[in-house]
Amino acid sequence: MQSLSPTAEQRLHITTEHLTNVTINTSSQDSWIHAYLTQSTHPLKGRQLLASHPISKGELLLIDAPYAVIPVVDDPASSPDLLCSNSKCSRKIVSAQPETPTSCPSNCIPDVAWCNEGCRAADQTRHAFECTWLKKYSASIRSKWGEYEFGMLWLIVRILATRSVELQRGEVFSSSSNPRFKSGWAAIESLCGSPETWAHSQVRAWSTLVKKYLKDSPTLPHGMSAEDVLALICREEANSFGLYPRETGVFPCPDPPVDRGEQFAAAVYPRAAIANHSCSPNIIHKPDNDGRMVFVVSRDIKPGEECCISYFDLTEFVDLSERRDHLQRSFRFLCKCDRCLGEEAPEEENSWDAFPAMDDDE
Ligand SMILES: [Zn+2]
Ligand SMILES: [Zn+2]
Ligand SMILES: [Zn+2]
Repeated sequence: MQSLSPTAEQRLHITTEHLTNVTINTSSQDSWIHAYLTQSTHPLKGRQLLASHPISKGELLLIDAPYAVIPVVDDPASSPDLLCSNSKCSRKIVSAQPETPTSCPSNCIPDVAWCNEGCRAADQTRHAFECTWLKKYSASIRSKWGEYEFGMLWLIVRILATRSVELQRGEVFSSSSNPRFKSGWAAIESLCGSPETWAHSQVRAWSTLVKKYLKDSPTLPHGMSAEDVLALICREEANSFGLYPRETGVFPCPDPPVDRGEQFAAAVYPRAAIANHSCSPNIIHKPDNDGRMVFVVSRDIKPGEECCISYFDLTEFVDLSERRDHLQRSFRFLCKCDRCLGEEAPEEENSWDAFPAMDDDE
């Protein structure tokens, strides 16, 4: 990708500009999966994305609509980055003008808004699931625990809301409905991550949050046990994406480096979440203007080769030790990608234990 301009402004829309197969209709709100993209299970890494045939640099690989998405902005009343709460829309509300944005008639929280009355009406059933919970708990979670915990719990509530709408509509997603990739709640249930993945102290803190704020109740009628909700948090934390205005995973990093910008949302994607990490990824990822995650191939991929993204901004963590420390801390594994193995000092090569690392930080 060295031919790309390194300036932030010019990179804003590069993911879609650099597609070679522009004939694909990327404007519909559905997901789209390349015919040669398949999934498999690796004995150590778990699920992974693979190419079944050669895929060329510049090809679109995946467009995945979010199962749930939340805005992450400091001041929702004035932020140009606030997303429409209708998950089928998820565009930035300012981009919908001159349509008239609308907020919740019950005034739950200012972070909830829609780009017009049509989006509010379309989202009514789903938002009804979260509205009372937001009104009751958002202020106290934000002040007692912080924005990160609030965002995590809200994303879980939105996942439960989507599931609730699926159940109400009688939508049952089975693996047989798509031979390659599950969708809907079935896909969320099969994401990796369990209480064993995380430190005991972390799991205990989440367990406290579940008991305080996410119990099955008239305020939050999901019908799941506390253990099931805790397990859902463990999966969400291992698989959610931050949404940033510029791409993640350009490698080698452009010189001068261009970061991916300020996070404006967080989301869970049923298919994109299967991608494993590499510090020299062959996929660049970036959300489109409808909150969908877009994967574009950044170098030719051979049949059988794994398709990987970068879980972090490659301009932020550069050295081997920085990258490995960050991945261990945030994603609980020791990176053994080609780049990391190639940068290891020769005497280190045999000193690593099982993968993924399961040590506890207590
Ligand atoms: Zn909208
Ligand atoms: Zn509301
Ligand atoms: Zn690595």
